[in-house]
Amino acid sequence: MDRLSSLENEIASLRKTLQEKEHELYELRKEFTLQQISTEPNYQQCDVNNISKTNIGDKLTKLDIMRYSRQILLPDIGVSGQEKLCAAKVLVVGAGGLGCPAALYLAGAGVGQIGIVDYDTVDLTNIHRQVLHGEGDQHVSKAESAANSLRSINSHIKIVPYNIQMDSTNALEIASKYDVILDCTDNVPTRYLLNDACALTKLPLISGSALKMEGQLTIYGYRATKNPNEKDQSYIGPCYRCVFPTPPPPETVGSCSANGVAGPVPGVIGSLQALEAIKLIVGQTHEKLLVERMLLFDGEDMTFRTVKLRGRASACAACSDTPTISRLIDYTAFCKAQATEKDLDLQILPQSRRMSPPVLSRHMTEGGDAGPLLVDVRSAPEYGMCRIEGTVNWPSDSLRGETLEKLLEEVRKCARQVIFICRRGNDSQIAAQTVIDAIEEPHKSKIMDLKGGLHAWSREVDNNFPIY
Ligand SMILES: [Zn+2]
Repeated sequence: MDRLSSLENEIASLRKTLQEKEHELYELRKEFTLQQISTEPNYQQCDVNNISKTNIGDKLTKLDIMRYSRQILLPDIGVSGQEKLCAAKVLVVGAGGLGCPAALYLAGAGVGQIGIVDYDTVDLTNIHRQVLHGEGDQHVSKAESAANSLRSINSHIKIVPYNIQMDSTNALEIASKYDVILDCTDNVPTRYLLNDACALTKLPLISGSALKMEGQLTIYGYRATKNPNEKDQSYIGPCYRCVFPTPPPPETVGSCSANGVAGPVPGVIGSLQALEAIKLIVGQTHEKLLVERMLLFDGEDMTFRTVKLRGRASACAACSDTPTISRLIDYTAFCKAQATEKDLDLQILPQSRRMSPPVLSRHMTEGGDAGPLLVDVRSAPEYGMCRIEGTVNWPSDSLRGETLEKLLEEVRKCARQVIFICRRGNDSQIAAQTVIDAIEEPHKSKIMDLKGGLHAWSREVDNNFPIY
C-alpha cells in the first residue's frame, strides 16, 4: 500500500510539473511566433503601411488564427464566431460519459472558460466511456482529472474544476458565472435542479442523456433576447419542466451502473452537446438549434430522429411569466430519488430473513449437497459475467406469470433454505418478497436473501469476486 500511495503522489507531482511546463511552452511558442514576425526576411522588405493593413480580427492573436483556422473557415463560425467562443464561459455539469467528450471539444474550440463540476472520483468502470480519464486517474477527483486533461489540450483557456455535488445551496452561485450550462449528469433530481437554476438565471441548458444503446439531446430555456440574429426577440423555448412538469417514478429511471451503456453512445451525444453549445455561442438562431426539438439516437439500428417537443408552457412553474418557483428546492425529495449513484440500501425484508455473506459461506461449506438453494436474480448478461458456483439464474425482470409459477414450484420442491442473491441486496429482497407473497404458508419460512448482495460477498467472503 505504501508503494501504491507513494507512486500516486509521485505521479500527481509529475503531472503538476508537466502542466506547468506545457503552459510555459505555450507562452514561449507564442512569444517566438511574435518574434518571428519581426525577424522573417520578408518582414524587412514589407512596407510598414502594409503591415498595419493586416487585420486579424480585433480580439484574436496570430496564434489564435492559426490554432482555430479549421473552424474559422466555416461561414457559420468565422472570425466573429471565434471571438465569441474565446470570450464564452461554459459550465459542464458531470465529468462522465457525456461531460468528457463535450468538454474536450469545447476546450479544442477555444471556449474561453470551462467550468467542470463532479463530486465523484474516477473508477475503473468509468474509463470505457469517460475519455478524459485514464488508468492512472483512478481514485482522483473526476473534476480535477478532467481539468488536467483539458489543460493539456488547450493551455490558453481557463479551466475551473468544481469537486462538489451540485445542489440547491451552490447551483445558482456557480451557474450565474457562466453563459451556457451543459447537463451531462445521469439523474432526475439534478436535471430539475439545473433546469430551475437556468430558469432563474435565464441561461440556456443543453441537456444530454445516454443509456444502453440510446441517447437523447435537446436545448431547454433558450431565449432570443440574447441573440441579435433572432427576428422575434420575444421567443423563449421550452424548459425541462414545460416538457416534464412532474418527475417520473424513480423505479422507471435506469442508470449506467445498473443497466449498462456502450461507450460510444455518450461519446456521440456529448460531442453533439458541444456542437450545439458552439452553434449557440456563435449566434445561430433557434430554428437551427435543437430548441423545441429532441434528437433521439438509437445505436442499435444506427438511426437519428428528431421529435417535436411542446413549446413553452404558459403555466410552467419555472419559466412562465408568473413562475411559482422563485428559489431552488429540495430536488431529492421532489423526485423521491437520490442524486448520486451510490449504493441505495432498501429495507424490505425483516433482519431475520437477511443472511450475511460469511453465514451463507458457512452454510454452503457445511451443508454440502444439503446446502441452501441459491437463486441469483440478476440479468442474464450480469450472471454471465460472474456468479457464485452452484447458483441458478432467475432474472427478477421476468418473475411474473408462468416464470414465477415455475420458480414457486422449485421452491415448494426444495427441502432446504432458498437464498435470493443480487448485486447489491435490493433486487434480491424484492424478488424474495414476491415469492413470500405468492407461496403457501409452510414454504414462506425457507425464503431469505443475501444481505448486501454480491458486493458484500466480494468484500466479506471472496475478494476475487469482481465488483462491477
Ligand atoms: Zn418551463
